[in-house]
Amino acid sequence: MGLLGAHVSTSGGICNAITNGEKLKCDAIQIFTKSQMRWDAKPLKDKDVAKFKEMWAVSRIKKIIVHDSYLINLGSPDQEKHRKSESAFIDEIKRAKEIGANFLVFHPGAHMGEGESKCIKRIGNTLNEILEEIDPGDVTILIETTAGQGTNVGYRFEHLRDILAILKSPGKFGICIDTCHIFASGYDIRTKNAYENVMREFDNSIGTNKIFAFHLNDAKVELGSRVDRHENIGVGKIGKDAFGFIVNDKRFSSVPMVLETPGGDEFYKKNLEILRGLIR
Ligand SMILES: [Zn+2]
Ligand SMILES: [Zn+2]
Repeated sequence: MGLLGAHVSTSGGICNAITNGEKLKCDAIQIFTKSQMRWDAKPLKDKDVAKFKEMWAVSRIKKIIVHDSYLINLGSPDQEKHRKSESAFIDEIKRAKEIGANFLVFHPGAHMGEGESKCIKRIGNTLNEILEEIDPGDVTILIETTAGQGTNVGYRFEHLRDILAILKSPGKFGICIDTCHIFASGYDIRTKNAYENVMREFDNSIGTNKIFAFHLNDAKVELGSRVDRHENIGVGKIGKDAFGFIVNDKRFSSVPMVLETPGGDEFYKKNLEILRGLIR
């Protein structure tokens, strides 16, 4: 089984993420270190960071994932937006390092009409530039699979493979698989056979040893719809079985698997019960 958990709120202070994760008996959590809909943010206060680390050390939480701001588009062809994205991403790395997070997850980017291959190159090159500015240290940066909504790239494993191929320090990067996103982008994981086929395809393209995190979300929409709408586990179009394949997959036994399902803590609780009930 993986390290099960959820994307928890930091409302009222970053330390509350630990409290919220503990309440849900999370073994891994994901957080935003700033408002996900804003460019700017106040720096984290030293005393909050110290308290956060102290609380984490004595909690059951083993791994912490930071998710970057939704505004960041490292593949933007618009110079101003690209510049803003690059500096915001550097700040995300800085904050993730400060709190001692294990992973920083980001959506690769959207081409805004410029075309996928240019966008993929720009994302790879930008990541190289960013790593010349800041060393992520112990934070591994994870590229998330996308649903392919709008002009987003990253909905094919090949896109992620091609980004990784450009990177000068690929060892500092990995992949986060979002179940809702891959399903929406056309990867069927509803039966054991289908799941194994998808994993084989991933393995051939990138290598399953590069999967460092999962977002466990059911999908409100059909296979291949390219629409990103998360649903609670077992009540969406993916269904419960797929999550059983993942949580029992020995390749991912120490990989964090966090929920990003709708409805808040009450639903997280229910979803985590379902996931734990699937463990053999
Ligand atoms: Zn996700
Ligand atoms: Zn999503």
